[in-house]
Amino acid sequence: MATWQCVKQCGACCHLDPAERPDLDEYLSPAELELYLSMVGEGGWCINFDHTTRECRIYPNRPRFCRVEAEVFQDMYGIEAEELNDFAIDCCRQQIEGVYGDRSLEILRFDRAIGL
Ligand code: SF4
Ligand code: SF4
Repeated sequence: MATWQCVKQCGACCHLDPAERPDLDEYLSPAELELYLSMVGEGGWCINFDHTTRECRIYPNRPRFCRVEAEVFQDMYGIEAEELNDFAIDCCRQQIEGVYGDRSLEILRFDRAIGL
């Protein structure tokens, strides 16, 4: 069975372009939505994303909506803990394919890392 993990030097989910996420107001509180929109920078990328290292500059203090954690996903998307693995895999694959392409090195690395 594939087991979700975040792969290093990906960062696809740090591409925040609201045009590609039309349902933001359905799972973010008004304050979170404001924070989210304030983080959208050039080309739709998060202003905290370091393009050289492909890492988050504020990782320990990143917002709640950046965290793949059971409690957060239950709260935001109504996903139960036992569904989290498959849901997170789908989210990552969708985001990676959207940002880097479905034949990208990033999607190959992700699939290999999770055991697909
Ligand atoms: S899309 Fe998934 S694998 Fe890529 S950085 Fe985000 S959480 Fe990690
Ligand atoms: S705060 Fe960090 S983890 Fe969240 S979108 Fe920005 S760069 Fe990515």
